[in-house]
Amino acid sequence: MSDIYDKVIELAKRRGFVWPSAELYGSVAGFIDYGPLGAMMKRRIENIWRHYYVIREGYYEIECPTVGTESIYLASGHVKGFADKMCQCPHCNEYFRADHLAEACGIENGAVLSKEELAAAIIDAACPSCGETFGQTEVFDFNLMFQTNIGPGSQRKGYLRPETAQGIFTDFSRLLRFYRQKLPFGAVQIGKSYRNEISPRQGMIRLREFTQAEAEIFVNPQEKTHPAFARYADYPVDLWAIEQQQNNTAAITRTMRQAVDEGIIANEYIAYYLALTHELLTSIGIDPKRTRFRQHLPDERAHYAIDCWDAEVYSERFGWVEIVGIADRTDYDLRAHAAESGDSMTVFVPFDEARKETRKRIVANMGVLGPKYRGKAAKIAAALAEAMPGPDGAEVVVDGETIFVPGDLYTVTEEEVEVRGAEVMPHVIEPSYGIDRMIYSVLEHAYDEEEVDGEVRKVLRLAPCIAPVQVAVFPLVNKDGLDTIAREITVDLQDAGVLADYDDNGAIGRRYRRQDEVGTPFAVTVDTETKEAGTVTLRDRDSMTQVRVMIDDLVPTILALIRGRTTFADLKSE
Ligand code: AMP
Repeated sequence: MSDIYDKVIELAKRRGFVWPSAELYGSVAGFIDYGPLGAMMKRRIENIWRHYYVIREGYYEIECPTVGTESIYLASGHVKGFADKMCQCPHCNEYFRADHLAEACGIENGAVLSKEELAAAIIDAACPSCGETFGQTEVFDFNLMFQTNIGPGSQRKGYLRPETAQGIFTDFSRLLRFYRQKLPFGAVQIGKSYRNEISPRQGMIRLREFTQAEAEIFVNPQEKTHPAFARYADYPVDLWAIEQQQNNTAAITRTMRQAVDEGIIANEYIAYYLALTHELLTSIGIDPKRTRFRQHLPDERAHYAIDCWDAEVYSERFGWVEIVGIADRTDYDLRAHAAESGDSMTVFVPFDEARKETRKRIVANMGVLGPKYRGKAAKIAAALAEAMPGPDGAEVVVDGETIFVPGDLYTVTEEEVEVRGAEVMPHVIEPSYGIDRMIYSVLEHAYDEEEVDGEVRKVLRLAPCIAPVQVAVFPLVNKDGLDTIAREITVDLQDAGVLADYDDNGAIGRRYRRQDEVGTPFAVTVDTETKEAGTVTLRDRDSMTQVRVMIDDLVPTILALIRGRTTFADLKSE
Protein backbone atom coordinates (compact mmCIF):
# COMPACT_ATOMS: atom_id res chain seq x y z
CA MET A 1 0.00 0.00 0.00
CA SER A 2 1.32 3.41 -0.86
CA ASP A 3 1.77 5.85 2.02
CA ILE A 4 1.60 9.63 1.92
CA TYR A 5 5.25 9.82 0.84
CA ASP A 6 4.50 7.81 -2.29
CA LYS A 7 1.45 9.94 -3.02
CA VAL A 8 3.32 13.21 -2.54
CA ILE A 9 6.25 12.10 -4.67
CA GLU A 10 3.96 10.76 -7.41
CA LEU A 11 2.17 14.10 -7.54
CA ALA A 12 5.44 16.05 -7.32
CA LYS A 13 6.88 14.20 -10.31
CA ARG A 14 3.73 14.24 -12.44
CA ARG A 15 2.89 17.91 -11.87
CA GLY A 16 6.39 19.36 -12.13
CA PHE A 17 7.54 19.98 -8.57
CA VAL A 18 10.51 17.59 -8.27
CA TRP A 19 11.85 14.55 -10.02
CA PRO A 20 15.06 12.51 -10.03
CA SER A 21 17.89 14.27 -11.83
CA ALA A 22 19.03 13.09 -15.29
CA GLU A 23 16.50 10.25 -15.56
CA LEU A 24 17.57 10.02 -19.18
CA TYR A 25 20.75 8.32 -18.00
CA GLY A 26 19.25 6.38 -15.12
CA SER A 27 19.58 9.04 -12.36
CA VAL A 28 21.80 8.62 -9.30
CA ALA A 29 20.41 8.61 -5.74
CA GLY A 30 20.75 11.87 -3.86
CA PHE A 31 20.29 14.27 -6.80
CA ILE A 32 16.99 15.88 -7.73
CA ASP A 33 15.73 18.44 -10.20
CA TYR A 34 13.17 21.03 -9.27
CA GLY A 35 10.66 21.24 -12.09
CA PRO A 36 8.75 24.40 -13.13
CA LEU A 37 6.44 24.52 -10.11
CA GLY A 38 8.99 23.20 -7.61
CA ALA A 39 11.64 25.75 -8.60
CA MET A 40 9.09 28.56 -8.22
CA MET A 41 7.96 27.31 -4.82
CA LYS A 42 11.57 26.96 -3.70
CA ARG A 43 12.29 30.60 -4.64
CA ARG A 44 9.23 31.73 -2.72
CA ILE A 45 10.34 29.82 0.39
CA GLU A 46 13.88 31.18 0.07
CA ASN A 47 12.48 34.70 -0.24
CA ILE A 48 10.40 34.26 2.90
CA TRP A 49 13.60 33.12 4.64
CA ARG A 50 15.29 36.28 3.29
CA HIS A 51 12.41 38.35 4.61
CA TYR A 52 13.07 37.05 8.13
CA TYR A 53 16.86 37.04 8.16
CA VAL A 54 17.95 39.75 5.74
CA ILE A 55 15.15 42.31 5.89
CA ARG A 56 13.97 41.87 9.47
CA GLU A 57 17.16 40.82 11.27
CA GLY A 58 19.38 42.99 9.03
CA TYR A 59 21.93 40.26 8.25
CA TYR A 60 23.02 40.86 4.68
CA GLU A 61 23.31 37.97 2.25
CA ILE A 62 26.63 37.12 0.65
CA GLU A 63 27.46 34.63 -2.08
CA CYS A 64 30.69 32.61 -2.03
CA PRO A 65 31.99 29.89 -4.38
CA THR A 66 30.85 26.34 -3.84
CA VAL A 67 34.43 25.11 -4.43
CA GLY A 68 36.85 25.84 -1.61
CA THR A 69 40.58 25.33 -1.20
CA GLU A 70 41.95 22.65 1.09
CA SER A 71 43.12 25.13 3.76
CA ILE A 72 39.54 26.20 4.47
CA TYR A 73 38.48 22.66 5.24
CA LEU A 74 41.69 21.77 7.06
CA ALA A 75 40.98 24.69 9.39
CA SER A 76 37.28 23.92 9.81
CA GLY A 77 38.04 20.31 10.73
CA HIS A 78 36.09 18.84 7.80
CA VAL A 79 39.13 17.14 6.20
CA LYS A 80 39.84 15.29 9.41
CA GLY A 81 36.46 14.79 10.95
CA PHE A 82 33.54 15.20 8.53
CA ALA A 83 32.91 11.50 8.18
CA ASP A 84 30.13 8.99 8.71
CA LYS A 85 30.77 5.49 9.96
CA MET A 86 30.23 3.02 7.19
CA CYS A 87 30.20 -0.72 6.64
CA GLN A 88 29.90 -2.98 3.63
CA CYS A 89 27.63 -5.99 3.39
CA PRO A 90 29.96 -9.02 3.12
CA HIS A 91 27.35 -10.80 0.95
CA CYS A 92 26.20 -8.25 -1.65
CA ASN A 93 28.95 -5.59 -1.18
CA GLU A 94 26.44 -2.72 -0.72
CA TYR A 95 27.59 0.14 1.53
CA PHE A 96 25.52 1.36 4.47
CA ARG A 97 25.71 3.88 7.27
CA ALA A 98 26.50 1.80 10.33
CA ASP A 99 24.53 4.08 12.70
CA HIS A 100 21.39 3.70 10.57
CA LEU A 101 21.74 -0.10 10.60
CA ALA A 102 22.23 -0.06 14.38
CA GLU A 103 19.15 2.13 14.81
CA ALA A 104 17.15 -0.33 12.70
CA CYS A 105 18.21 -2.95 15.29
CA GLY A 106 16.63 -0.85 18.07
CA ILE A 107 19.77 1.03 19.23
CA GLU A 108 19.03 4.67 20.09
CA ASN A 109 21.20 7.48 18.76
CA GLY A 110 23.64 5.28 16.82
CA ALA A 111 25.52 8.40 15.72
CA VAL A 112 27.27 8.68 19.11
CA LEU A 113 28.62 5.09 19.14
CA SER A 114 32.24 4.20 18.37
CA LYS A 115 33.19 2.04 15.38
CA GLU A 116 33.66 -0.99 17.66
CA GLU A 117 30.31 -0.44 19.38
CA LEU A 118 28.60 -0.15 16.01
CA ALA A 119 30.27 -3.29 14.67
CA ALA A 120 28.95 -5.16 17.71
CA ALA A 121 25.48 -3.65 17.31
CA ILE A 122 25.03 -4.77 13.71
CA ILE A 123 26.21 -8.39 13.98
CA ASP A 124 22.62 -9.67 13.78
CA ALA A 125 21.36 -6.95 11.42
CA ALA A 126 19.81 -8.02 8.14
CA CYS A 127 21.24 -6.31 5.07
CA PRO A 128 18.53 -3.92 3.73
CA SER A 129 19.65 -4.82 0.22
CA CYS A 130 20.11 -8.64 0.12
CA GLY A 131 18.51 -9.67 3.43
CA GLU A 132 21.53 -11.74 4.64
CA THR A 133 22.77 -11.31 8.22
CA PHE A 134 25.81 -9.04 8.45
CA GLY A 135 27.83 -11.00 11.03
CA GLN A 136 31.28 -9.74 12.06
CA THR A 137 31.85 -6.68 9.80
CA GLU A 138 34.37 -3.86 9.91
CA VAL A 139 33.06 -0.33 10.46
CA PHE A 140 35.20 2.46 9.00
CA ASP A 141 35.14 6.22 8.46
CA PHE A 142 34.02 7.67 5.15
CA ASN A 143 34.67 11.39 4.58
CA LEU A 144 31.54 12.99 3.13
CA MET A 145 33.25 15.77 1.18
CA PHE A 146 33.44 15.65 -2.62
CA GLN A 147 37.05 16.28 -3.55
CA THR A 148 38.15 18.02 -6.73
CA ASN A 149 41.25 19.57 -8.30
CA ILE A 150 41.68 23.27 -8.95
CA GLY A 151 43.49 24.04 -12.20
CA PRO A 152 45.43 21.63 -14.39
CA GLY A 153 48.04 19.24 -13.10
CA SER A 154 46.12 18.40 -9.92
CA GLN A 155 48.45 20.58 -7.85
CA ARG A 156 45.69 22.18 -5.82
CA LYS A 157 43.19 20.15 -3.94
CA GLY A 158 39.72 21.58 -3.56
CA TYR A 159 36.45 20.49 -2.02
CA LEU A 160 32.83 21.15 -2.83
CA ARG A 161 31.56 22.92 0.26
CA PRO A 162 29.72 20.66 2.72
CA GLU A 163 28.00 23.71 4.26
CA THR A 164 27.64 27.35 3.28
CA ALA A 165 28.91 28.61 6.63
CA GLN A 166 32.65 28.48 5.93
CA GLY A 167 32.40 31.24 3.29
CA ILE A 168 31.07 33.56 5.96
CA PHE A 169 33.86 32.66 8.40
CA THR A 170 36.60 33.17 5.81
CA ASP A 171 35.08 36.59 4.99
CA PHE A 172 34.95 37.55 8.66
CA SER A 173 37.45 40.44 8.57
CA ARG A 174 35.83 42.08 5.53
CA LEU A 175 32.38 41.64 7.03
CA LEU A 176 33.58 43.16 10.30
CA ARG A 177 34.68 46.28 8.37
CA PHE A 178 31.39 46.32 6.44
CA TYR A 179 29.52 46.34 9.75
CA ARG A 180 31.73 49.19 11.04
CA GLN A 181 33.65 47.02 13.52
CA LYS A 182 30.69 46.55 15.86
CA LEU A 183 29.14 43.47 17.46
CA PRO A 184 26.67 41.93 17.09
CA PHE A 185 26.44 41.47 13.33
CA GLY A 186 25.53 38.65 11.03
CA ALA A 187 25.69 37.48 7.46
CA VAL A 188 23.70 34.83 5.67
CA GLN A 189 24.08 32.64 2.66
CA ILE A 190 21.59 30.58 0.66
CA GLY A 191 23.08 28.08 -1.72
CA LYS A 192 24.09 24.59 -2.63
CA SER A 193 26.04 22.32 -0.30
CA TYR A 194 27.42 18.91 -1.15
CA ARG A 195 27.79 15.78 0.94
CA ASN A 196 28.67 12.42 -0.53
CA GLU A 197 26.04 10.62 1.57
CA ILE A 198 26.75 6.90 1.85
CA SER A 199 23.46 5.39 0.75
CA PRO A 200 20.76 8.03 0.42
CA ARG A 201 17.45 6.21 0.40
CA GLN A 202 15.21 8.91 1.79
CA GLY A 203 14.30 10.86 -1.33
CA MET A 204 14.31 14.61 -0.72
CA ILE A 205 15.34 14.19 2.91
CA ARG A 206 18.88 12.99 2.27
CA LEU A 207 20.51 14.47 -0.82
CA ARG A 208 24.07 14.64 -2.06
CA GLU A 209 23.51 18.14 -3.40
CA PHE A 210 21.08 20.26 -1.40
CA THR A 211 20.28 23.85 -0.57
CA GLN A 212 21.11 25.36 2.77
CA ALA A 213 20.14 28.71 4.19
CA GLU A 214 22.53 29.58 6.98
CA ALA A 215 22.99 32.60 9.21
CA GLU A 216 26.19 33.19 11.15
CA ILE A 217 25.63 35.74 13.88
CA PHE A 218 28.72 37.10 15.60
CA VAL A 219 28.09 38.16 19.18
CA ASN A 220 30.07 39.39 22.16
CA PRO A 221 30.55 36.32 24.41
CA GLN A 222 29.72 38.51 27.43
CA GLU A 223 26.45 39.76 25.93
CA LYS A 224 24.21 36.94 24.80
CA THR A 225 21.08 39.00 25.27
CA HIS A 226 19.32 39.47 21.96
CA PRO A 227 18.49 43.18 21.44
CA ALA A 228 14.99 42.28 20.12
CA PHE A 229 14.27 39.40 22.54
CA ALA A 230 10.98 41.03 23.60
CA ARG A 231 9.53 40.09 20.20
CA TYR A 232 9.57 36.39 21.13
CA ALA A 233 9.72 36.45 24.95
CA ASP A 234 6.09 35.26 25.23
CA TYR A 235 6.23 32.94 22.22
CA PRO A 236 5.49 29.31 23.23
CA VAL A 237 7.31 26.39 21.59
CA ASP A 238 7.35 22.61 22.17
CA LEU A 239 10.74 21.64 23.60
CA TRP A 240 12.07 18.11 23.84
CA ALA A 241 14.98 19.01 26.06
CA ILE A 242 17.73 16.76 27.42
CA GLU A 243 15.71 15.98 30.56
CA GLN A 244 12.62 14.77 28.68
CA GLN A 245 14.73 12.65 26.32
CA GLN A 246 16.62 11.04 29.19
CA ASN A 247 13.38 10.35 31.13
CA ASN A 248 11.56 9.29 27.99
CA THR A 249 8.75 11.79 28.56
CA ALA A 250 6.89 14.03 26.13
CA ALA A 251 8.01 17.46 24.94
CA ILE A 252 7.13 20.38 27.20
CA THR A 253 5.71 23.73 26.13
CA ARG A 254 7.52 26.84 27.30
CA THR A 255 7.64 30.48 26.31
CA MET A 256 11.11 31.64 25.37
CA ARG A 257 11.39 33.78 28.49
CA GLN A 258 10.48 30.77 30.67
CA ALA A 259 12.89 28.48 28.82
CA VAL A 260 15.82 30.87 29.34
CA ASP A 261 14.91 31.65 32.97
CA GLU A 262 14.58 27.93 33.78
CA GLY A 263 17.96 27.26 32.17
CA ILE A 264 16.50 24.91 29.54
CA ILE A 265 17.80 27.03 26.66
CA ALA A 266 21.33 28.38 27.19
CA ASN A 267 20.74 32.00 26.20
CA GLU A 268 18.40 34.53 24.60
CA TYR A 269 20.04 34.26 21.19
CA ILE A 270 19.31 30.55 20.87
CA ALA A 271 15.79 31.03 22.24
CA TYR A 272 15.13 33.91 19.85
CA TYR A 273 16.07 31.84 16.80
CA LEU A 274 14.07 28.85 18.01
CA ALA A 275 10.94 31.00 18.11
CA LEU A 276 11.75 32.76 14.84
CA THR A 277 12.24 29.36 13.21
CA HIS A 278 8.92 28.13 14.56
CA GLU A 279 7.18 31.23 13.20
CA LEU A 280 8.91 30.91 9.83
CA LEU A 281 8.12 27.20 9.43
CA THR A 282 4.50 27.81 10.40
CA SER A 283 4.20 30.71 7.96
CA ILE A 284 5.20 28.50 5.02
CA GLY A 285 2.61 25.87 5.98
CA ILE A 286 4.47 23.37 8.16
CA ASP A 287 2.03 22.10 10.77
CA PRO A 288 3.01 23.48 14.22
CA LYS A 289 1.45 20.37 15.83
CA ARG A 290 3.99 18.28 13.94
CA THR A 291 6.94 20.53 14.87
CA ARG A 292 9.15 20.31 17.96
CA PHE A 293 12.61 21.39 19.06
CA ARG A 294 14.96 18.64 20.21
CA GLN A 295 18.00 19.55 22.26
CA HIS A 296 21.24 17.74 21.43
CA LEU A 297 22.28 15.33 24.17
CA PRO A 298 25.65 16.09 25.81
CA ASP A 299 27.42 13.18 24.03
CA GLU A 300 25.93 14.12 20.66
CA ARG A 301 26.72 17.85 20.85
CA ALA A 302 29.99 19.02 19.32
CA HIS A 303 32.55 19.41 22.14
CA TYR A 304 32.87 23.16 21.59
CA ALA A 305 29.14 23.96 21.37
CA ILE A 306 27.35 25.44 24.37
CA ASP A 307 23.83 24.48 23.29
CA CYS A 308 22.31 23.01 20.18
CA TRP A 309 18.70 22.39 19.10
CA ASP A 310 17.15 20.79 16.03
CA ALA A 311 13.80 21.89 14.70
CA GLU A 312 12.22 18.55 13.90
CA VAL A 313 9.18 18.02 11.74
CA TYR A 314 7.09 14.86 11.76
CA SER A 315 6.77 12.93 8.54
CA GLU A 316 4.58 9.85 8.22
CA ARG A 317 7.29 7.73 6.63
CA PHE A 318 10.49 9.09 8.19
CA GLY A 319 9.28 10.01 11.69
CA TRP A 320 10.85 13.12 13.27
CA VAL A 321 13.27 14.68 10.78
CA GLU A 322 15.79 17.44 11.51
CA ILE A 323 14.95 20.41 9.31
CA VAL A 324 16.93 23.17 11.01
CA GLY A 325 19.89 23.11 13.40
CA ILE A 326 20.38 26.04 15.80
CA ALA A 327 23.64 26.13 17.73
CA ASP A 328 25.81 28.33 19.88
CA ARG A 329 29.18 27.34 18.37
CA THR A 330 31.23 29.60 20.69
CA ASP A 331 34.45 30.91 19.10
CA TYR A 332 35.41 27.51 17.66
CA ASP A 333 35.22 28.45 13.96
CA LEU A 334 36.94 31.83 14.22
CA ARG A 335 39.65 30.43 16.49
CA ALA A 336 40.29 27.60 14.01
CA HIS A 337 40.57 29.98 11.03
CA ALA A 338 42.71 32.41 13.05
CA ALA A 339 45.15 29.59 13.85
CA GLU A 340 45.31 28.34 10.25
CA SER A 341 45.49 31.75 8.55
CA GLY A 342 47.38 33.86 11.08
CA ASP A 343 44.66 36.55 10.91
CA SER A 344 43.51 37.82 14.31
CA MET A 345 39.72 37.40 13.81
CA THR A 346 39.03 39.55 16.86
CA VAL A 347 36.94 42.65 17.39
CA PHE A 348 37.98 45.63 19.48
CA VAL A 349 35.23 46.11 22.04
CA PRO A 350 35.52 49.45 23.88
CA PHE A 351 34.86 49.53 27.64
CA ASP A 352 32.07 51.80 28.89
CA GLU A 353 34.78 53.78 30.64
CA ALA A 354 38.51 53.67 30.02
CA ARG A 355 40.40 51.74 32.74
CA LYS A 356 43.77 52.44 34.26
CA GLU A 357 46.03 49.40 34.31
CA THR A 358 49.59 48.82 35.41
CA ARG A 359 51.59 47.24 32.61
CA LYS A 360 55.03 45.69 32.68
CA ARG A 361 57.14 46.91 29.83
CA ILE A 362 60.47 45.53 28.66
CA VAL A 363 63.12 48.04 27.74
CA ALA A 364 66.06 46.50 25.89
CA ASN A 365 69.56 47.23 27.17
CA MET A 366 71.08 48.02 23.79
CA GLY A 367 74.59 48.18 25.26
CA VAL A 368 74.58 44.39 25.67
CA LEU A 369 71.76 43.39 23.28
CA GLY A 370 73.36 45.17 20.29
CA PRO A 371 76.71 43.31 20.27
CA LYS A 372 74.99 39.97 20.97
CA TYR A 373 72.37 40.07 18.20
CA ARG A 374 74.01 42.58 15.78
CA GLY A 375 71.79 43.07 12.67
CA LYS A 376 68.72 41.62 14.40
CA ALA A 377 69.09 43.69 17.58
CA ALA A 378 66.73 46.53 16.55
CA LYS A 379 63.95 44.14 15.58
CA ILE A 380 64.41 42.14 18.79
CA ALA A 381 64.26 45.32 20.89
CA ALA A 382 60.98 46.31 19.16
CA ALA A 383 59.53 42.84 19.71
CA LEU A 384 60.60 42.89 23.39
CA ALA A 385 58.59 46.09 23.94
CA GLU A 386 55.42 44.09 23.18
CA ALA A 387 56.50 40.85 24.94
CA MET A 388 55.71 39.50 28.39
CA PRO A 389 58.73 39.02 30.69
CA GLY A 390 59.13 35.45 32.04
CA PRO A 391 61.07 34.43 35.19
CA ASP A 392 64.42 34.10 33.35
CA GLY A 393 63.85 35.98 30.14
CA ALA A 394 61.37 36.70 27.36
CA GLU A 395 60.47 34.95 24.15
CA VAL A 396 60.04 36.92 20.93
CA VAL A 397 59.39 35.97 17.31
CA VAL A 398 61.45 37.87 14.73
CA ASP A 399 61.17 37.07 11.02
CA GLY A 400 59.50 33.78 11.85
CA GLU A 401 62.28 32.74 14.26
CA THR A 402 61.56 32.27 17.98
CA ILE A 403 64.33 33.81 20.09
CA PHE A 404 64.76 33.52 23.85
CA VAL A 405 66.27 36.72 25.28
CA PRO A 406 67.82 36.25 28.75
CA GLY A 407 66.58 38.63 31.49
CA ASP A 408 69.96 40.35 31.95
CA LEU A 409 69.71 41.91 28.49
CA TYR A 410 66.78 44.15 29.42
CA THR A 411 65.10 45.91 32.31
CA VAL A 412 61.41 45.73 33.19
CA THR A 413 59.58 48.96 33.98
CA GLU A 414 56.06 49.36 35.26
CA GLU A 415 53.84 52.03 33.81
CA GLU A 416 50.24 53.04 34.22
CA VAL A 417 48.34 52.95 30.96
CA GLU A 418 44.82 53.86 29.98
CA VAL A 419 43.02 50.86 28.46
CA ARG A 420 40.01 51.77 26.34
CA GLY A 421 38.79 48.29 25.46
CA ALA A 422 39.76 44.71 24.69
CA GLU A 423 40.20 42.50 21.65
CA VAL A 424 37.42 39.93 21.75
CA MET A 425 36.93 36.82 19.66
CA PRO A 426 33.19 36.72 18.96
CA HIS A 427 31.00 33.71 19.55
CA VAL A 428 28.89 32.41 16.67
CA ILE A 429 25.18 31.67 16.83
CA GLU A 430 24.21 29.56 13.82
CA PRO A 431 20.70 28.80 12.59
CA SER A 432 21.14 26.39 9.66
CA TYR A 433 18.13 25.47 7.49
CA GLY A 434 17.77 22.68 4.95
CA ILE A 435 15.56 24.14 2.23
CA ASP A 436 14.84 20.79 0.51
CA ARG A 437 13.64 19.22 3.75
CA MET A 438 11.43 22.24 4.35
CA ILE A 439 9.94 21.78 0.88
CA TYR A 440 9.26 18.09 1.39
CA SER A 441 7.62 18.78 4.78
CA VAL A 442 5.47 21.51 3.26
CA LEU A 443 4.30 19.17 0.51
CA GLU A 444 3.53 16.33 2.93
CA HIS A 445 1.64 18.56 5.36
CA ALA A 446 -0.27 20.25 2.52
CA TYR A 447 -1.29 17.05 0.75
CA ASP A 448 -4.93 16.12 1.21
CA GLU A 449 -7.53 13.93 -0.41
CA GLU A 450 -11.28 14.30 0.05
CA GLU A 451 -14.36 12.97 -1.63
CA VAL A 452 -16.29 15.54 -3.61
CA ASP A 453 -19.31 14.56 -5.72
CA GLY A 454 -18.31 10.90 -5.63
CA GLU A 455 -14.76 11.62 -6.84
CA VAL A 456 -11.46 11.91 -4.97
CA ARG A 457 -10.26 15.52 -4.94
CA LYS A 458 -6.47 15.71 -4.50
CA VAL A 459 -5.54 19.06 -3.10
CA LEU A 460 -2.31 20.67 -1.97
CA ARG A 461 -3.32 23.09 0.76
CA LEU A 462 -0.27 25.29 0.23
CA ALA A 463 -0.04 28.62 2.05
CA PRO A 464 -0.85 31.34 -0.53
CA CYS A 465 2.55 32.96 0.11
CA ILE A 466 4.42 29.92 -1.27
CA ALA A 467 2.00 28.51 -3.87
CA PRO A 468 3.83 28.50 -7.21
CA VAL A 469 0.78 29.55 -9.24
CA GLN A 470 -1.02 32.17 -7.20
CA VAL A 471 -4.23 32.49 -9.15
CA ALA A 472 -5.91 30.72 -12.06
CA VAL A 473 -8.09 32.61 -14.51
CA PHE A 474 -10.78 30.81 -16.49
CA PRO A 475 -13.32 31.99 -19.02
CA LEU A 476 -16.45 29.89 -18.37
CA VAL A 477 -16.77 29.41 -22.12
CA ASN A 478 -14.48 30.30 -24.95
CA LYS A 479 -16.85 32.70 -26.67
CA ASP A 480 -18.97 35.86 -26.29
CA GLY A 481 -15.85 37.83 -25.41
CA LEU A 482 -15.48 36.04 -22.04
CA ASP A 483 -12.05 34.78 -23.13
CA THR A 484 -10.95 38.32 -24.02
CA ILE A 485 -11.97 39.63 -20.58
CA ALA A 486 -10.25 36.67 -18.89
CA ARG A 487 -7.04 37.37 -20.81
CA GLU A 488 -7.16 41.05 -19.84
CA ILE A 489 -7.60 40.09 -16.18
CA THR A 490 -4.62 37.73 -16.46
CA VAL A 491 -2.42 40.52 -17.81
CA ASP A 492 -3.54 42.93 -15.06
CA LEU A 493 -2.63 40.36 -12.44
CA GLN A 494 0.73 39.64 -14.09
CA ASP A 495 1.47 43.38 -14.24
CA ALA A 496 0.92 43.47 -10.48
CA GLY A 497 3.55 40.74 -10.04
CA VAL A 498 1.09 37.88 -9.53
CA LEU A 499 1.77 34.55 -11.20
CA ALA A 500 -1.58 33.99 -12.93
CA ASP A 501 -2.31 30.95 -15.06
CA TYR A 502 -4.86 31.38 -17.86
CA ASP A 503 -6.65 28.13 -18.66
CA ASP A 504 -9.53 27.65 -21.09
CA ASN A 505 -9.04 23.95 -21.66
CA GLY A 506 -11.82 21.49 -20.76
CA ALA A 507 -14.77 21.49 -18.38
CA ILE A 508 -14.59 24.06 -15.58
CA GLY A 509 -14.67 21.32 -12.90
CA ARG A 510 -11.59 19.68 -14.41
CA ARG A 511 -9.81 23.00 -14.54
CA TYR A 512 -10.48 23.55 -10.82
CA ARG A 513 -9.15 20.06 -10.01
CA ARG A 514 -5.95 20.66 -12.00
CA GLN A 515 -5.28 23.81 -10.00
CA ASP A 516 -6.27 22.22 -6.66
CA GLU A 517 -3.70 19.52 -7.20
CA VAL A 518 -0.83 22.01 -7.58
CA GLY A 519 -2.05 24.14 -4.70
CA THR A 520 -3.25 27.25 -6.58
CA PRO A 521 -5.10 29.01 -3.76
CA PHE A 522 -7.53 31.14 -5.80
CA ALA A 523 -9.36 30.88 -9.11
CA VAL A 524 -11.16 33.60 -11.00
CA THR A 525 -13.95 32.66 -13.40
CA VAL A 526 -15.30 35.06 -15.99
CA ASP A 527 -18.92 34.10 -16.60
CA THR A 528 -22.11 35.44 -18.21
CA GLU A 529 -22.73 37.85 -15.34
CA THR A 530 -19.33 39.47 -15.83
CA LYS A 531 -20.40 41.54 -18.82
CA GLU A 532 -23.55 42.89 -17.20
CA ALA A 533 -22.39 43.34 -13.60
CA GLY A 534 -18.62 43.87 -14.05
CA THR A 535 -17.98 41.10 -11.53
CA VAL A 536 -16.19 37.74 -11.57
CA THR A 537 -16.35 34.77 -9.24
CA LEU A 538 -13.39 34.23 -6.96
CA ARG A 539 -13.09 30.67 -5.68
CA ASP A 540 -11.20 29.55 -2.61
CA ARG A 541 -9.29 26.29 -3.08
CA ASP A 542 -9.68 25.02 0.49
CA SER A 543 -13.38 25.64 1.13
CA MET A 544 -14.35 25.56 -2.57
CA THR A 545 -16.70 28.47 -1.81
CA GLN A 546 -17.02 31.46 -4.08
CA VAL A 547 -17.62 35.20 -3.80
CA ARG A 548 -18.34 37.74 -6.51
CA VAL A 549 -15.77 40.52 -6.78
CA MET A 550 -15.82 43.66 -8.94
CA ILE A 551 -13.19 43.39 -11.68
CA ASP A 552 -11.79 46.75 -10.55
CA ASP A 553 -11.20 45.36 -7.04
CA LEU A 554 -9.73 42.05 -8.16
CA VAL A 555 -5.99 42.84 -8.23
CA PRO A 556 -5.86 44.49 -4.77
CA THR A 557 -8.09 41.75 -3.33
CA ILE A 558 -5.85 38.99 -4.64
CA LEU A 559 -2.70 40.79 -3.50
CA ALA A 560 -4.18 41.12 -0.01
CA LEU A 561 -5.08 37.41 0.04
CA ILE A 562 -1.60 36.32 -1.10
CA ARG A 563 0.13 38.57 1.43
CA GLY A 564 -2.13 37.31 4.21
CA ARG A 565 -3.61 40.79 4.84
CA THR A 566 -7.08 39.36 4.43
CA THR A 567 -8.64 35.90 4.32
CA PHE A 568 -11.29 34.39 2.13
CA ALA A 569 -13.58 34.13 5.17
CA ASP A 570 -13.25 37.92 5.64
CA LEU A 571 -14.29 38.46 2.00
CA LYS A 572 -17.32 36.25 2.40
CA SER A 573 -18.53 38.10 5.48
CA GLU A 574 -18.16 41.54 3.87
P1 AMP B 1 23.95 20.21 9.50
O1 AMP B 1 25.08 21.09 9.08
O2 AMP B 1 24.24 18.75 9.32
O3 AMP B 1 23.40 20.56 10.85
O4 AMP B 1 22.79 20.50 8.46
C1 AMP B 1 22.00 21.65 8.52
C2 AMP B 1 20.71 21.39 7.79
O5 AMP B 1 20.98 21.03 6.43
C3 AMP B 1 19.94 20.20 8.35
O6 AMP B 1 19.07 20.61 9.38
C4 AMP B 1 19.19 19.70 7.16
O7 AMP B 1 17.95 20.37 7.02
C5 AMP B 1 20.07 20.04 5.99
N1 AMP B 1 20.78 18.84 5.51
C6 AMP B 1 21.90 18.27 6.03
N2 AMP B 1 22.27 17.20 5.30
C7 AMP B 1 21.36 17.08 4.30
C8 AMP B 1 21.21 16.17 3.21
N3 AMP B 1 22.07 15.18 3.00
N4 AMP B 1 20.15 16.34 2.37
C9 AMP B 1 19.28 17.35 2.56
N5 AMP B 1 19.39 18.24 3.57
C10 AMP B 1 20.41 18.12 4.43
